Amino acid sequence: MEQQETLLQYFEWYLPAGGGHWRQTAADAAHLAALGFTGVWLPPAYKGHQGLADVGYGVYDLYDLGEFDQKGTVPTKYGLREEYLAAIRALQANGVKVYADIVLNHRMGADESEEVYAQKSAGNDRNREISSPAPITAWTRFTFPGRAGKYSDFQWDWTCFDGVDWDDKRDSTAIYQFEGKDWDRQVDCENGNYDYLMGADLDMSAPKVIEELDRWGKWYLETTGVDGFRLDAVKHIRASYFTHWLQALRRSSGKPLPAMGEYWKNDLGALTYYLDQCGQVMRLFDVPLHFQFHRLSTANGSMDLRDLFRGTLTAARPDQAVSFVDNHDTQPGQALQSWVADWCKPLAYACILLRREGIPCVFYGDLYGIPHSSVPPVEALPKLLLARKFCAHGQQTDYLDDPATIGWVRRGTDSAMAVALTDGPGSSKRMCTGAEMSGAVFVDLLGGRNDRILIPENGTADFPVNGGSVAVWVPESMAEQIRQALKSEALPEAPLSSI
Ligand code: CA
Repeated sequence: MEQQETLLQYFEWYLPAGGGHWRQTAADAAHLAALGFTGVWLPPAYKGHQGLADVGYGVYDLYDLGEFDQKGTVPTKYGLREEYLAAIRALQANGVKVYADIVLNHRMGADESEEVYAQKSAGNDRNREISSPAPITAWTRFTFPGRAGKYSDFQWDWTCFDGVDWDDKRDSTAIYQFEGKDWDRQVDCENGNYDYLMGADLDMSAPKVIEELDRWGKWYLETTGVDGFRLDAVKHIRASYFTHWLQALRRSSGKPLPAMGEYWKNDLGALTYYLDQCGQVMRLFDVPLHFQFHRLSTANGSMDLRDLFRGTLTAARPDQAVSFVDNHDTQPGQALQSWVADWCKPLAYACILLRREGIPCVFYGDLYGIPHSSVPPVEALPKLLLARKFCAHGQQTDYLDDPATIGWVRRGTDSAMAVALTDGPGSSKRMCTGAEMSGAVFVDLLGGRNDRILIPENGTADFPVNGGSVAVWVPESMAEQIRQALKSEALPEAPLSSI
């Protein structure tokens, strides 16, 4: 049976600091493989400016994977360097690829400040200067005294950056662009030019910056042996930068190093434009699809389901899309909060796990719950994952033809599956599973319906679905096989660190 790619984002925002996340990752590896995961995206592994409390996106030192006494701690939020490396080995030993989170856009928590001439850019039009150059005190000197030159003696100063958002001299916040610098081009056009996001923004056109990040990439790959990358904040970095960085690493390592970029915009045109600009060296997360799920979950049953996949990357460029339902930024309490409601989660996961298009990426907070926000795990997820592993194969026939109830059929060599989904009242979907299924009895794997549906000679039957839910109809023998597999693998329990 073909093994399809299935990814897992193995963290959520509120994992406890010092909770042993890397150790838990290693202990969970065999279980994740049994659920059908072929790849795991681990959180940023380097020391952030908030030390133990840093989720990883406030990068201070890319070379400190939990090894040096910096920012008040040796381990990162997730553990020690050796534990990180052991977690990677454990996943790989179970046939699971590891995707590292790469955060290159900005640095935070500089060791020293320095005086720099800078002019202010207008917040909503960064191409417009709104002050003349004047000296500010910028936190831009990174000397890493705690690491003392190990692995790299490169030190950062203001010439490595385009700007900051804090003048320490005046205790003043603004978008400060350093004199003689330009915001990088080939970035998202929001605010005129969306190069600047936060912290000290790297000048991705400075040769010494490019060289140092190339050096670091090689070091990181050799040190960790990861299989691929999740690239943070790509819309704030010039498109050709990652073309260069990835191609150089792929050449020198001889590895394929697949990559998936976070271009956070609900705009298919912006995503496809970026993909073409960067030479399609990466896939992108399907942000428009996430927002379609969010719309579905908040529309009180009024969404026209024929449009569910309209305007999504998964529909437009299935081979370049990583589909997802939620992530660490959309979860409750976070900056981009757009959480898909509990009732809607099984519907959304059926869409990304049981259809042919896109590579799905499951969110840790959905698999294990988010204790901090009293969010329970999505109970149907393990079954849907095994349904993907065992039944979501072969051709796909779509029945996306009704505003309230849609469905699709998958037909592999040895099985078939009929999915019916509605955001309205209970109904049914007439679908053809193929004449070769004639005589088989289909049941709802998720257990919402208790019917037993005998497939007639022509292979076509009505498949019922309860209101506001999804039904996954598979042959009775297959449903039994999946139930046994779940029993023998033991259902995923909340890992220690998230209790
Ligand atoms: Ca930038």
